[in-house]
Amino acid sequence: MSVKKSDVLVIGGGTAACAAAEAILQAGKNVTMVFPNGGSSEVSAGSIDILGVVPGEEPVICGDYKEGIPVLLEKYPNHVYAKCADELEQGVKALVSLAEAGGCKLRGFDGKNVWIPNMLGTFSINAYVPEMSGDGILIPGEEKKVLVVGVKGNVAFNAKAAAMSYQQYQKKIGGKADYFSAEIRLTGWGDRRKVSDGELADYLDTAEGAGELIASIQTFCRNNRYPFDLILLPPVLGYVHEQELLSEIRKACGCKAAEVQALGNSVVGYRFTRALYRGLEMRGARLLRGAKVTAVSPAENGIEAECTIGLTDQLHPGEKVTVHASSAVLATGGFVGGGIKARRTEVWIELLDKKLGGITADHLDRDAVSTSGQEFLRMGAEVNEDMSVKDEKYNGRLFACGGVLAGHNSASERSGAGIAAASAYLAGKNAALNI
Ligand SMILES: Cc1cc2nc3c(=O)[nH]c(=O)nc-3n(C[C@H](O)[C@H](O)[C@H](O)COP(=O)(O)OP(=O)(O)OC[C@H]3O[C@@H](n4cnc5c(N)ncnc54)[C@H](O)[C@@H]3O)c2cc1C
Repeated sequence: MSVKKSDVLVIGGGTAACAAAEAILQAGKNVTMVFPNGGSSEVSAGSIDILGVVPGEEPVICGDYKEGIPVLLEKYPNHVYAKCADELEQGVKALVSLAEAGGCKLRGFDGKNVWIPNMLGTFSINAYVPEMSGDGILIPGEEKKVLVVGVKGNVAFNAKAAAMSYQQYQKKIGGKADYFSAEIRLTGWGDRRKVSDGELADYLDTAEGAGELIASIQTFCRNNRYPFDLILLPPVLGYVHEQELLSEIRKACGCKAAEVQALGNSVVGYRFTRALYRGLEMRGARLLRGAKVTAVSPAENGIEAECTIGLTDQLHPGEKVTVHASSAVLATGGFVGGGIKARRTEVWIELLDKKLGGITADHLDRDAVSTSGQEFLRMGAEVNEDMSVKDEKYNGRLFACGGVLAGHNSASERSGAGIAAASAYLAGKNAALNI
């Protein structure tokens, strides 16, 4: 078994891991990240939600996330933001700068939340969105003509249904736009009747695919009786050349254009996580991809992690590597990322060998999308004020951040990447201090 050494080890490869790694690099220490994939960040909309809603029987929508945080903390004093809200600005800045360095620009709105049309035909509340979606924001009271474009065979986004839904839903938030729809037929992939988001993105990365889409939309716009102010497109405009394609569409049609927000579509999350990785590698981080930490233990002057690299099954045991670091950051995410697991009705953090408790009827709201959020989602790792894990055996050298932490309900708060950014920045900074 080979041994690798690093000042700090980051376990995970999602938003939290990347923000922690950037904080460690900024502190002048070297960092190794170990992860099998991008977790929930990789299927996310690539937006940074900081705080959109304070959940409860009467949820409070936050126009300004900074003003919302004290309201949230009054209602939930043990919330993660109670420890790390002061690091929010630095954490978000770290993510935005990494993503931009890696080729995925994000747009913020002077500290305010905005409403962005999404794939479901409703509007999501976000603090930062990928630049590709930036033109799509709903501005209350603004009258405009919006064309919603879908692609025949790409069943993940139904332009007609989305346009009808935007038309109705916007009234709740003061929108005054008129929505129209068009289904474009692309022929470049032969006579296949269905095409996935990923395949469509691959096709639109080719000159042929991009040309076909631009020409079809341009023809539709030219033949229409009145001009459109904005064109909304599915979030599949490519993995590599998406920005060029969007700006060509704007030029060809003479109006604004944007992708709608992705919901569980992997194209945008993939662009976001790959840009973070590129940014980190450009700044000197060591990334062990396709690898998994199987055990973490205290070691002399630090932490030791056993890792398995590569494909594993009955025939392939993978390469075993031990990483020794002065300190480590656990950023393995929640139920989606893999950091928290359920064994029947018991919930565990396997890497900490810690049982968090059992799920009983009290933890579950029968209304799956209850405005108070599901209580069991608040389960997670307990940490001290400096984000070190509350377990003396690690001597304050193991820190935790992001979705694996206890005390937040990011799905109903719309706070996922914000919590990841703030808690990870603090965890990374303190992990680097330990050396
Ligand atoms: C469909 C979807 C859409 C979302 N959209 C948004 C959005 O637009 N905006 C927003 O703010 N939030 C969004 N969220 C929430 C957001 O993605 C999470 O809150 C955030 O990603 C948490 O980051 P994380 O790094 O803590 O966890 P994750 O992103 O889940 O990352 C966990 C990482 O740990 C790794 N890992 C797990 N176990 C091990 C192990 N044993 N060894 C090594 N590595 C391991 C995983 O491979 C992964 O890299 C969305 C979530 C989902 C599911």
